[in-house]
Amino acid sequence: MQVGILGGGQLGMFLARAAERLGAAAHVYAADADAPARRTAHSFTCAPYEDGAALTAWGRAKQLDALTYEFENIPPAALNALGALSVAVHPPPEALAVAQDRLEEKTFCRRLGVATAPWRPLASLEDMRAAQEAFGGDAIVKTRRFGYDGKGQWALKGAADAPAQIWRALKGRAAIAEQRVPFDKEVSLICTRFADGHVQAFAPVHNVHRAHILHQSRVPAGLPPALAAEAQEIGDRMLAALDYIGTLAIEFFVCGEALLVNELAPRVHNSGHWTLDACPSSQFEQHMRAVMGLPTAPRGARMMR
Ligand code: AMP
Repeated sequence: MQVGILGGGQLGMFLARAAERLGAAAHVYAADADAPARRTAHSFTCAPYEDGAALTAWGRAKQLDALTYEFENIPPAALNALGALSVAVHPPPEALAVAQDRLEEKTFCRRLGVATAPWRPLASLEDMRAAQEAFGGDAIVKTRRFGYDGKGQWALKGAADAPAQIWRALKGRAAIAEQRVPFDKEVSLICTRFADGHVQAFAPVHNVHRAHILHQSRVPAGLPPALAAEAQEIGDRMLAALDYIGTLAIEFFVCGEALLVNELAPRVHNSGHWTLDACPSSQFEQHMRAVMGLPTAPRGARMMR
């Protein structure tokens, strides 16, 4: 089987290795000539993601049966170019569309009845002032697209001219405001849905950030069993709603007895590297099994089910 992977970072490197171990040829397409996945891929192609002609030529030349990706800021045109070749794209482009845009993400959560921090879309400076007031003077403005690890974010609090300053910094980019929630900890759930609809999830992970970068992942996360079960149930609902195949990471804030969804990543996740050493099937193998249409892996000690 010929599997394409868009993106050649460390996540792509482990994905390619997992695919090769499962008997597929992993073809990586990345914009960076020195990408780590070069070492583990069957073939490595370096070209821009925006180059639809190069992507299509790559998909044809490698005779791809399935395609996946290791990061969420893939230009939609890239997937469309490959979709036009009838390559099965997993996870579904709809999941990517939800995860690429914080407004879509929050709206998706609301539609499913899943709690998030209170939020509002921002269409004007007046909206920003109103959000600051509504959220008790302490909110976070986040660009809708292309924000990660705290980039594209501003604290909306304190000085009366903060909204005007942030509005200028946005330079016309669409954004939302979120209330700053006093969370006890941040946890992630990494779950995989297979072609037959079956879901397997790893135990939730407690994530500690330093300067907005993931610093440490701790398992077990120390969640009360009811909250761990709720995280799992939210994962099940999201995966089913998106008719998802592959691995999904959901980041949560734990606020007392409440779980609030912060973000979705339609891919394997940095907080799941421990699964390489601690589980019979890592998040990378789980993802590639799903993408390749293989059955679930045997249940491991650190998997919830
Ligand atoms: P994000 O890019 O949305 O994951 O945000 C980066 C980090 O900022 C998160 O990991 C949290 O530590 C913090 N953060 C984001 N949104 C909120 C919020 N609504 N309330 C409190 N902290 C937040």
